[in-house]
Amino acid sequence: LAAAGPTSVAGPVTTTDGRRIAIVANIADAKDATRAAGVGAEGVGLLRTELTFLSAATEPTEADQRAGYAATMEPLRGLPITARTLDAGADKPVPFLDVAPEVNPALGVRGQRLFDEVAGDAAERSSTIGSGSADRAGVLDRQLAALVGGAADAGVPLKVMAPMISTADEARRFVARARAAGAEQVGVMIEVPAAVLNAPELLAEVDFVSVGTNDLTQYVFAADRQSGALAAFNDPWQPAVLRLLDQLCRAAEVTGTPVGVCGEAAADPALAVVLVGLGVTSLSAAASALPAVAARVGSVDLATARRAAAAAVGSPDVASARAAVRDLLG
Ligand code: PEP
Ligand code: MG
Repeated sequence: LAAAGPTSVAGPVTTTDGRRIAIVANIADAKDATRAAGVGAEGVGLLRTELTFLSAATEPTEADQRAGYAATMEPLRGLPITARTLDAGADKPVPFLDVAPEVNPALGVRGQRLFDEVAGDAAERSSTIGSGSADRAGVLDRQLAALVGGAADAGVPLKVMAPMISTADEARRFVARARAAGAEQVGVMIEVPAAVLNAPELLAEVDFVSVGTNDLTQYVFAADRQSGALAAFNDPWQPAVLRLLDQLCRAAEVTGTPVGVCGEAAADPALAVVLVGLGVTSLSAAASALPAVAARVGSVDLATARRAAAAAVGSPDVASARAAVRDLLG
């Protein structure tokens, strides 16, 4: 039998030489929040807000949303929570949004694109995304207001972020709307390669970013994350993904923007060390993964983490990247 690992996050977590790393949880409901509190998570790095929407035939009222968010956040009273606004479309259809079927939904009107003036011809857009779009912008505004209210009711400091952002313009428009709804800390997810290539301008618009490595990997490789046949591409150890993260972190140093990771990559203790070495300061994963990630990150110094990052980024493939980091970390 393997020796039992750590069972909780002995926070606050730092590298052995004092770099503070937030160890936070991915949650979707109050049960997850209770689990996160149970393992000593320092907060939430990704609250997926889709749940209530995916099963709703009509838009939940703002009051109902607010009560739902407060109930979800309540087990984590006092701890910071980063909530992602509705990531509908593609694999997450929301009936009341009336989105027309698309040939390539993962490349379609999903995430923040549903609520934004997507660049391009307005007429084509309305025929592409169907009727019922008149108040679509209002769906986002009501959700933002409900998140702000729910967090206040639950006594948690709130950050909000949008999914599927590609450009600085999209980020700017989202930030304006989130601030108008009363959100103080506003960021975006980095899960489209263009967002990394646009990082110098995009980062200037936001308070923080959080990398969704699941989607970022799928879009870097043009490999559907739901395809078992393409699973070898959908591996966050892929040097191509790590090189993009490196590029993002270098841009974030210039703007002083905090970078978190909330995709599966953050659940792997050795890869978490690589992320810290790249400059990531917040790691968010399922509660069950956090104690081992915290222990690993807390056992290295920053110089070692940086060596691990350089080795992984410089590796030709997944196997070499893993082996190089394993050799360095022991
Ligand atoms: C991601 O894409 O990595 C992510 C965290 O979001 P989701 O898995 O919900 O798309
Ligand atoms: Mg995603």
